[in-house]
Amino acid sequence: MTERRLSGVGVTPLSGVGTAVWYAPDAELDAPPEPETVDADAERERFESARDGARAEIRAERERTAERVGEAEAEVFDAHVQFLDDPQISDGVESEIGDGLPAEHAVTRTFDRFVEQFEGMEGRMAERADDLRDVRDRLVRVLIGSDRVDLADLPDGSVVLAERLTPSDTAQLDPERVAGFVTVTGGRTSHAAIFARSLALPAVVGVGEGLHDIEDGSEVVVDGTEGTVTVDPDAETRDAAAGGEDVEITAESVETADGTPIEIAANVGTRADLAPAAERGADGIGLFRTEFLFLDRQSPPDEDEQYEAYLEALEAFPGGRVVVRTLDIGGDKPIEYLDLPEEENPFLGERGIRRSLGPDADLFETQLRALLRAAGSENGGQLSVMLPLVSTVEEVREAQEALKSVAADLEDDGESYAIPEFGVMIETPAAAFLAPDLVDDVDFFSIGTNDLAQYVMAAERGNSRVADLGDYHQPAVLRAIRATVEATEGTDVWVGMCGEMAGDPDLTELLVGLGLDELSMSAVTVPQVKHAVTETTVADARALAERALAASTKAEVLGVLTETTR
Ligand code: PEP
Ligand code: MG
Repeated sequence: MTERRLSGVGVTPLSGVGTAVWYAPDAELDAPPEPETVDADAERERFESARDGARAEIRAERERTAERVGEAEAEVFDAHVQFLDDPQISDGVESEIGDGLPAEHAVTRTFDRFVEQFEGMEGRMAERADDLRDVRDRLVRVLIGSDRVDLADLPDGSVVLAERLTPSDTAQLDPERVAGFVTVTGGRTSHAAIFARSLALPAVVGVGEGLHDIEDGSEVVVDGTEGTVTVDPDAETRDAAAGGEDVEITAESVETADGTPIEIAANVGTRADLAPAAERGADGIGLFRTEFLFLDRQSPPDEDEQYEAYLEALEAFPGGRVVVRTLDIGGDKPIEYLDLPEEENPFLGERGIRRSLGPDADLFETQLRALLRAAGSENGGQLSVMLPLVSTVEEVREAQEALKSVAADLEDDGESYAIPEFGVMIETPAAAFLAPDLVDDVDFFSIGTNDLAQYVMAAERGNSRVADLGDYHQPAVLRAIRATVEATEGTDVWVGMCGEMAGDPDLTELLVGLGLDELSMSAVTVPQVKHAVTETTVADARALAERALAASTKAEVLGVLTETTR
């Protein structure tokens, strides 16, 4: 068989070989046949046995969830069984079958009617619509015999193929078993891409409709460097993919050739990211995106659960710094059970610290309690707390008041705790302009270039139409970074970067020259960036940064960068 190759966007400089497993969350139906050709009795029987099959599946899933997540979370499956057994719903399905529809169409039509009713209700009742959809899809899958792939339980060496992967889908992938993933849609900064980088998984996104031509069970090579997917690879392609990387992994901390230490840390979201980050030699964690602790479940993690997660992160990096960012939701990071408002421009709405000081004040308090307790633990001295999406000095002060009040409560409760190092993300133009004032209230800054580029350039992140504008090579973005770093000079405040820009090894010299003390990135590029630090001197880096800052167009910035790599 000759190999076939498709192209997309490579999101990790890694390759993998494995067996294609299609992941399709929703079953698709063909148009229904003519009513007179449908045998209603046979369809009623199919419906009955599908209900039995679905019930057995739900029970098994309930058990697994109770074991892995918790009893409270598992209860949602009880509601699913109730829907399955609801006489109004089953009567509805039987009557549609009586009108000449095959069982799968009768299920879809009946459930959709109930979904619509629930959607018209207020609050919690409206949320039940999602449960109904879930039961509907399960029944249809059982009826048409399409199994939903369990992402958390894939065979070793699977390459997941999907239309798209949500953050909660991706969070289930076990990097020990999965050889990579490929999606039809998506771009470099999509959450699936960010996850792939933190899990150090080979991944290609945005391949387009051609991906549907790859069949389940085919052998595929995912080349995240070239952004290609090869089906039925020949021996040469397979061997090249199985070959290693060109840069050595080092657990040692690094410094420039003229002796300036630069901390190289990893961005993590879930427990599963910790081991790959340590294995790839990260000095610590520069960004723990705690919103991922809140995803893929029915209710928020409580104080003890969070406390355990923070301890685990501290233990994974003995002696290293662990920067935990408080909950950053809103924008492109919705969490269903939190009932976020509908906003016309969610990126300019209630997100990050704005929610923590507003409607999510209770969650913020719980999170701060868990963090302060973790700071008081054996390895707690390594912990730093960071606020997302700061745009005023008042927000920082208000958050500090909340932190003090939590400390006083812990004192009253007789809990052991400590006050951790405290910093803010610089990811809005307001924060960059206010950096000279913010230095008085914090221990550190971490520049979030994903959001900073979007807000400085007024170009939505993830919107491919404006990707060229919202690019971190834009001179306005470089100048916002420089202004931030400049505000820390002559103070004790250290400054890091945790946006995707920090993980681009072609920019390491520039970032050292701009004065960054720390760079935090998806685990996968840690070795390349560490290597790049050792290859530069501060003097050369500063000269490069000066030339880049003098550029007035993105093309000139790119010109300055290629001149030096030649
Ligand atoms: C950023 O905006 O650069 C950042 C690191 O935060 P996130 O990508 O989680 O919004
Ligand atoms: Mg951000």
